[in-house]
Amino acid sequence: MKENTIPVTIQEIISKVIDAPEEFTPMHIPIFDEREIDLLRECVESNFVSSVGAFCDRFESALVDYTGARRAVLTVNGTSALHLSLILAGVEDNDEVLIPSFTFVATANAVRYIGAIPHFIEIEDQSLGVDITKLLQWLETIAETRDGGLWNKSTGRRIRCLVPMHTFGHAVDMDALNAVAAQFGLVVVEDAAESLGSFYKGRHTANDSLCAAISFNGNKIITTGGGGAILTNDDDLADRAKHLSTTAKIPHSWEMRHDAVGFNYRMPALNAALGCAQIEKLPGFVAKKRALAERYRAAFDGVEGVRFLSEPEWATSNYWLNTLVLDDDSGEAQRGFLELANSEGIMTRPAWTPLHILPIFSDCPKMELKITESMARRVVNIPSTASL
Ligand SMILES: *Cc1c(COP(=O)(O)O)cnc(C)c1O
Repeated sequence: MKENTIPVTIQEIISKVIDAPEEFTPMHIPIFDEREIDLLRECVESNFVSSVGAFCDRFESALVDYTGARRAVLTVNGTSALHLSLILAGVEDNDEVLIPSFTFVATANAVRYIGAIPHFIEIEDQSLGVDITKLLQWLETIAETRDGGLWNKSTGRRIRCLVPMHTFGHAVDMDALNAVAAQFGLVVVEDAAESLGSFYKGRHTANDSLCAAISFNGNKIITTGGGGAILTNDDDLADRAKHLSTTAKIPHSWEMRHDAVGFNYRMPALNAALGCAQIEKLPGFVAKKRALAERYRAAFDGVEGVRFLSEPEWATSNYWLNTLVLDDDSGEAQRGFLELANSEGIMTRPAWTPLHILPIFSDCPKMELKITESMARRVVNIPSTASL
């Protein structure tokens, strides 16, 4: 098959799988029905629409039930959940935090909010998550353990924390990653923004670290409009997360005292009411998204020049976004496909510009990031809404 025929072939396969109507197929849209309206009305009629409303506790309980995490603490978005998680992990000004370059900008922004420095690490091309073997080699080369911490020999800064991200809902191999983290004394925080509904060796993701951040942004598998949560199995950490997210106010009937510089990061009850309705549908969304992924997988099986990104052997993925990896490393097939599909009303997108390429992060320490850069030229996301 010639290179320039690949975009057409892919386009035709997708149209067949999703039975594309004439107009426009978005990549991922939220699905609501009467249930959301009922719970929103109940919330408004209760008058408790802000963060003290009962719907916040209710949504937190539902998250605990679904994920099996011990505690859930709601936040205004996934970015604030990450920010608080990193603070609770002990990250401080001028520390380095190991994060993939192949992620949404929020992962790195949360690091910078603390005055810490993102240190970019490589991904592997099967799950698009952290390449753990290369990470181990890299740390053996550049890091040394002394004074009870891990230090970057070339920058002189402490490396405090490791943040794996479960790309497009595919879990990182957390047992292997945690073994490396333990060897080097690194705290692990999961960026699980994309992996609600994804399981690692039978456990829900966001359960294999100190704490994890999830997101309920409008494009995620369930949405609260905007929102996020910290999941953790550590009660003390959850209590501190809630305290810091609610301006660190000391509980008292009338006195206003605060024992830390806190944040106004708690999700309002209105958003939590949406979340209560949405999470009831989550198992159904996951089942439908997995069925859609299976249809894509079968349709692309054996097609030359392109690979459908399947779940890693250790994972049961939510297939939040379905992903194709093109063979062509020049970026030409990707450009051709994006132009064709988007002009024909099928919304498709590349992944992110690798963060180390953005001028705001180009001075940050990094490993060799060949796979990251290659994947940026080869990955496309295709329509993934559960109702397809
Ligand atoms: C969506 C997302 C976030 C941030 O979530 P918001 O709720 O938009 O703040 C962080 N990391 C990743 C990988 C994401 O996909």
